[in-house]
Amino acid sequence: MTAALETLRAVFGYETFREPQDAIIDGVINGRDALVIMPTGGGKSLCYQIPSLVRRGCGVVVSPLIALMQDQVDGLRELGVNAAFLNSSLDSQQVREVESALQGGQLDLLYVAPERLVQPRTLDLLLRCDIALFAIDEAHCVSQWGHDFRADYLQLNLLHERFPDVPRIALTATADARTRREIAIRLDLEDARHYIAGFDRPNIRYRIALKQNPRQQLLAFLRSEHAGDAGIVYCLSRRKVEETARWLQEEGIPALPYHAGLPAAERSANQSRFLREEGLVIVATIAFGMGIDKPDVRFVAHLDLPKTVEAYYQETGRAGRDGLPANAWLVYGLQDIIKLRQMMDNSAGSEEHKRAEQQRLNAMLGLCEITSCRRQALLHYFGDTLSDPCGNCDTCLQPVETWDGTEAAQKALSAVYRTGQRFGVSHVIDVLRGLENERVLQLDHHRLGVFGIGADLGANPWRSVFRQLVARGYLSVDMERYGALRLQEKARPLLKGEESLALRKDSSPATNTRQKTRQ
Ligand code: ADP
Ligand code: ZN
Repeated sequence: MTAALETLRAVFGYETFREPQDAIIDGVINGRDALVIMPTGGGKSLCYQIPSLVRRGCGVVVSPLIALMQDQVDGLRELGVNAAFLNSSLDSQQVREVESALQGGQLDLLYVAPERLVQPRTLDLLLRCDIALFAIDEAHCVSQWGHDFRADYLQLNLLHERFPDVPRIALTATADARTRREIAIRLDLEDARHYIAGFDRPNIRYRIALKQNPRQQLLAFLRSEHAGDAGIVYCLSRRKVEETARWLQEEGIPALPYHAGLPAAERSANQSRFLREEGLVIVATIAFGMGIDKPDVRFVAHLDLPKTVEAYYQETGRAGRDGLPANAWLVYGLQDIIKLRQMMDNSAGSEEHKRAEQQRLNAMLGLCEITSCRRQALLHYFGDTLSDPCGNCDTCLQPVETWDGTEAAQKALSAVYRTGQRFGVSHVIDVLRGLENERVLQLDHHRLGVFGIGADLGANPWRSVFRQLVARGYLSVDMERYGALRLQEKARPLLKGEESLALRKDSSPATNTRQKTRQ
């Protein structure tokens, strides 16, 4: 038996490693660097805890989650592991005790906050000790494009310079290919082996629908499928969180609000009620969730579009931790895209940052508009693969009907162009449908060649066409010009008739046939 397996059994009481823990652990024990991408709950901790125990010296774990350090250390001590932490919650006497235990070679594991680690005092101390490894937890915090960015993480590349012989293992639950590269570059882990593991959550059913009347859609979903269940409803703004929670209560569904603007006492009371009691719905901003581990969350519903696929995965991943069936439900519409683009345009970041954010949003939109299996697309995004359609997402269960939208798209794009790329969706649709309203007449748009060329479709089907054209990058929405639509380079071949376009059939009145449900 290997030393690693022996430790797994003797210390942690588990029989076998999960894929790919053993390969990771074996590598680190033998002094090799690793970059580990594993979803929450996948078992990242053992990947550095076991090598720390097997290798000579103390394993040093860098983590930004100061609030969780105490729990982790307590848990390890219960297993008989000599663990300690260094962060701002300790007084100077306690710090000295930890430091002398480390120097005396009495520690197996030491958790350190990043700002503490990079202090010269800490580095000097570590240089005098035997270090088994450095584990960099939540490694995506090094990414400047992510929302968890921590400036202190940028300095962690000094570990490689100062401790060239100590293996380093970076771990995170969220990293697309781009973030992965960024982590590797910034932490000097380009030669490290990358392990990407097990992102699939087969018991979660992914469902993404068009936003029509979101409150009624949510209510119907909760009443028909989740009466009495615990779940999370995510909203973008604090105000919407409070309004939605109040409204659900009025509808007889026990709901509590949670967002960073609530008084701390109320926030933690709501959180602990959600964890303790059964059948509560928590309505929350994305502030809710870090470190939440409630196994029986039966659904996660999104009333607003998450900004990235990572966020969507992370948030929906809070459902069904117990392995039983759970729903990830989302509704979105054109207004969501416009609102998010607007927020991104108005954010403080550099042009490059904004472009990166837009690209991420585009990937999320791609997932929404996709007509093939959502799980395959989701896993593909994380570099994981699923060879067959999953059979447990909406597009698998109820195949999306598509229609040849080439001509409609050409008309839509032409109308945007002929009206001067200065108008928003509503006006362009009025022109297409040939409505002689005041604005149209005032602008003389009833004299344009495109006026009325789209009279065969109603306003809703046109909105669906425009949403898909925006979501797929044929059109952009210029927020500095009140949502004016603009043609993108991608539109050219379509306009020239060199390309055709299949569009999703949203419950389109143009066809008048009800969507068939497969039994
Ligand atoms: P992560 O840090 O990836 O979110 P954890 O390291 O906290 O995940 O592990 C999640 C849970 O899985 C923990 O309760 C842990 O003890 C358990 N676990 C991890 N590895 C194994 C294993 N090989 N066998 C059984 N349970 C495991
Ligand atoms: Zn599927």
